[in-house]
Amino acid sequence: MSGLRELLAAGTRSFSFEFFPARTEAGAAGLWEVVRRIEAFAPSFVSVTYGAGGSSRDRTVELTNRIAAETTLRPVAHLTAVAHSVAELRHVIGQYADAGVRDVLALRGDPPGDPNAPWIPHPDGFSHAWELVKLVRESGAFSVGVAAFPERHPRSADWESDVRHFVAKCRAGADYAVTQMFFRAEDYLRLRDRVVAAGCDTPVIPAIMPATDPRQIARFAELSGATFPDDLARRLHAAGGGEEGRRIGIDFAVSMAEKLLAEGAPGLHYITLNRSSPTSEIHRELLGSALTAPALTAPALTAHV
Ligand code: FAD
Repeated sequence: MSGLRELLAAGTRSFSFEFFPARTEAGAAGLWEVVRRIEAFAPSFVSVTYGAGGSSRDRTVELTNRIAAETTLRPVAHLTAVAHSVAELRHVIGQYADAGVRDVLALRGDPPGDPNAPWIPHPDGFSHAWELVKLVRESGAFSVGVAAFPERHPRSADWESDVRHFVAKCRAGADYAVTQMFFRAEDYLRLRDRVVAAGCDTPVIPAIMPATDPRQIARFAELSGATFPDDLARRLHAAGGGEEGRRIGIDFAVSMAEKLLAEGAPGLHYITLNRSSPTSEIHRELLGSALTAPALTAPALTAHV
């Protein structure tokens, strides 16, 4: 199986789905059903987020390794430097290597508890993601992804330093980047153009977060620093949730995704929140559009997708 780097370099569009490890046994069982439904799409990869500490991190490793062992999916393991010594990071990377996981999304992470609190590195750890990129690269035949921020990273003083650090992170050995959630295609396109202008050709895959529940999205947008368009918020509030809100969120995401793909985005990364719908509905609508038809083939979907 060729790596993500080869896939993207060949001009193949990447389509991926993101999950987080469930906290309860019931949640884990439900999530596994979702993973199986998503498998029917034959995505380029699925990714599993890395928690703030302890048992949540163990669950990330467990779920990622299970996906590698029991499905046909390519799992990408998120890994953060938060509260880890380099030795501990090596250990986690070793667990992935042993399980046959060959893809890591290397992240700095945020302080646990309050993402806006001052960043304090582990005394024997890393301060920035580029160091983790290098470590993963040195640890074996891994394909490495990094994070990108269409509205720039909340801690970056200005665009110039943000792009400079992003490019340095790519040059440390990243094969591709995945963005933070965003809701204005222009933000992605501006970032991409800035990165290209800085002489960096690392593919940046835009994230698609379906906005169907206004309260939930406002909270996520606050945490991530993403701007949530007033007009979309107004329409979702007026719809008051339910089917109408779902339709608004799906239509908005499809339309943004079509614009991104028409502008040459190398693929889409769907944030699922551990549900197969609405991201699978968005994906199906894109599969049906003339825009993406040549690059995608529709799999035999189960009735639940
Ligand atoms: P970095 O690239 O290190 O950047 C952090 C800040 O430091 C930026 O302002 C950057 O400009 C600056 N910087 C970088 N290098 C230098 C340098 N040499 N000198 C000075 N400043 C520098 N968090 C989780 O906890 N778990 C996850 O699973 C997770 N998954 C994510 C997936 C995606 C696609 C994205 C976009 C984010 C994810 N996050 C996750 C959140 C992420 O960890 C935070 O946004 C974090 O604040 C930034 O991580 P980074 O890897 O971009 O850090």
